[in-house]
Amino acid sequence: MAEAHLCLLTMKILLVFASLVAATCSEQLFVGDQVLRITASNEEQIALLRALDEQTELQVDFWRHPASPGHPADLRVPFPSLQAVKTLLESNGISYSIMIQDLQKLVDEEKKAMAKPSKTKRSGSTFNFASYHTIDEIYDWMDTLVADHPDLVSKLQIGQSYENRSLYVLKFSTGGSNRSAIWLDTGIHSREWITQATGAWTANKIAEEYGQDPSVTAVLDSMDIFLEIIANPDGFAYTHSSNRMWRKTRSRNSGSLCVGVDPNRNWNAGFGVAGASRNPCSETYHGPYANSEPEVKAIVDFVNNHGNIKAFISIHSYSQLLLYPYGYTRTPAPDQRELHEISKKAVAALSSLYGTSYQYGSIYTTIYQASGSSVDWSYNQGIKYSFTFELRDTGRYGFLLPASQIIPTAQETWLALKVIMQHTLNHPY
Ligand SMILES: [Zn+2]
Repeated sequence: MAEAHLCLLTMKILLVFASLVAATCSEQLFVGDQVLRITASNEEQIALLRALDEQTELQVDFWRHPASPGHPADLRVPFPSLQAVKTLLESNGISYSIMIQDLQKLVDEEKKAMAKPSKTKRSGSTFNFASYHTIDEIYDWMDTLVADHPDLVSKLQIGQSYENRSLYVLKFSTGGSNRSAIWLDTGIHSREWITQATGAWTANKIAEEYGQDPSVTAVLDSMDIFLEIIANPDGFAYTHSSNRMWRKTRSRNSGSLCVGVDPNRNWNAGFGVAGASRNPCSETYHGPYANSEPEVKAIVDFVNNHGNIKAFISIHSYSQLLLYPYGYTRTPAPDQRELHEISKKAVAALSSLYGTSYQYGSIYTTIYQASGSSVDWSYNQGIKYSFTFELRDTGRYGFLLPASQIIPTAQETWLALKVIMQHTLNHPY
């Protein structure tokens, strides 16, 4: 009897242990991984860096791609590849510094902060905008927002993700039918957590400021705003459950074990030309054909069916940039002068709050050639006011921006968004 009891107890302990092991093993760890800031000084060195991306055995991951000489690239290097990568850089005379010493430490700190109960609970709402949240928390909160502002906010489903999650868009509207509209999306690259957090804060801000802030009121009195906070829900869920650094969608690629497509190289604008990868294992894999990703196709269909979208703003991180088309070609956009002027004003407004410095310009000239991106597509559809933000920071924390920076980031971005929205309102076309 006692023996049987003991055995049962041992089994129970083993089971608890096994489930702990399973829980730990299902999540990718980044112990000892470093993020290197690499400054190439000539085109030859840049070509060498680009080639690193295709060496799949090293498992490196560009957080910021090599652009032109003098513009630093940020590269995450898994611990087992550190020696090889550093040797390669040193032997080719490429200078680098260590931006993040041990990535897992930042991941652990972020987790700890998320687990803390909110200290800033407000009456009527338990959603803490100063904290990062899971997809379920954000989707639940969206329903609360709709319930709190039924005359202004509604929720649309524009499709389903590859793994059958709902693709939700918040609609802010004071009435009318098929009014001209502004499109905003955050989180199409799932690991860019500051963007989904900024999206939630922004949705709340729009709802709160209608009737308070004259410029927001004016915009909403004649236009609608659409906001998709989690544009890549499968990827986002995966960043919480399995791999914090996941960027792509979660679709299976035929003929490859590597999963996912870069949803910002999958649009039908310069699709497949230089500035994307044809390798399914690459972080910038463009996918088998344009719009192959249901998350992309849903937005394309929504925008086309709507037919009256006047501004299209896609929010990413990081680098502190405000960009406009084109990314796939060096040919200037026909509206370059106007887009540049708006960017200048928007960046000035953004910087006025906390002094955060932003660069601006076309994607091609400011960062690098990127093909198949959303704003190139929207611009080619005739949506003149097409912009991409790259939010904070410039690399100290990269995708692991501390939650303490969510609200300041959202606040400053809001000022830039208002400049673009007002300009769109005042320049009908
Ligand atoms: Zn991005």
